[in-house]
Amino acid sequence: MIRFERVSFRYDGADPDAPPALGGLDFTVPEGELCLVVGPSGVGKSTLLGAVSGLVPHFTGGHLTGRVTVAGRDTRTHRPRELADVVGTVGQDPLSHFVTDTVEDELAYGMESLGVPPETMRRRVEETLDLLGLADLRDRPIAALSGGQQQRVAIGSVLTVHPRVLVLDEPTSALDPGAAEEVLAVLQRLVHDLGTTVLLAEHRLERVVQYADQVVLLPAPGAPPVVGPPAEVMAV
Ligand code: ADP
Ligand code: ADP
Repeated sequence: MIRFERVSFRYDGADPDAPPALGGLDFTVPEGELCLVVGPSGVGKSTLLGAVSGLVPHFTGGHLTGRVTVAGRDTRTHRPRELADVVGTVGQDPLSHFVTDTVEDELAYGMESLGVPPETMRRRVEETLDLLGLADLRDRPIAALSGGQQQRVAIGSVLTVHPRVLVLDEPTSALDPGAAEEVLAVLQRLVHDLGTTVLLAEHRLERVVQYADQVVLLPAPGAPPVVGPPAEVMAV
């Protein structure tokens, strides 16, 4: 579902003597698996995720070599907008994600911009409220929710589009441990019940490694990536 073929990437204006932001990435995430991207801050996790959603290089600038494909679409020749029905993206800070005021409006918003018919929109909002345990909160202002609830709304707003791939950049880093568990449980359910393919960046490995089918470890800037099953990568 996601394929990196000999991918390297350098931001425009980066120090020419510094290692590239991404180097030598070569891995595949099969449909319906959860792949964890781990490594210390500044090692290229967000850049890797951006190469899947198409933000890199379309919105960042920079030079990408090799090829990244998502559901068969080359992310360099498809702009992020042309990938929006396939790839959903959730970031660290749910508040920066929101464009409406209430839970229900937020869940509908992404579908509106893709021209989903009203009846389908209504059904998908209901289905997603149930899936994420948000039905009781549907009319609430998003600003009044807890961090974990907000992050579930952010995930829900992307899920109503029925993306085949969900990309999350440290979605639990601003949450307390209980709320983080809530969000991780939702991700597990998506993979198991809906067959969604999930690419999840985290810097706290121990919390999430149990959920992963595959791990991409970026050990340090410029160091070769390590890719494999969790037990194998953890042993490195
Ligand atoms: P991580 O997500 O692992 O913290 P990033 O992908 O954000 O790492 O960053 C990888 C490297 O690329 C860092 O050295 C960072 O400073 C640099 N970088 C990130 N975004 C940009 C950008 N838009 N322009 C130039 N350099 C960037
Ligand atoms: P429609 O595509 O018209 O909204 P449904 O809501 O019945 O039709 O969804 C079609 C299929 O998608 C169903 O089998 C349903 O289980 C599945 N599905 C539901 N939610 C999601 C989701 N978030 N991502 C992917 N598939 C989903």
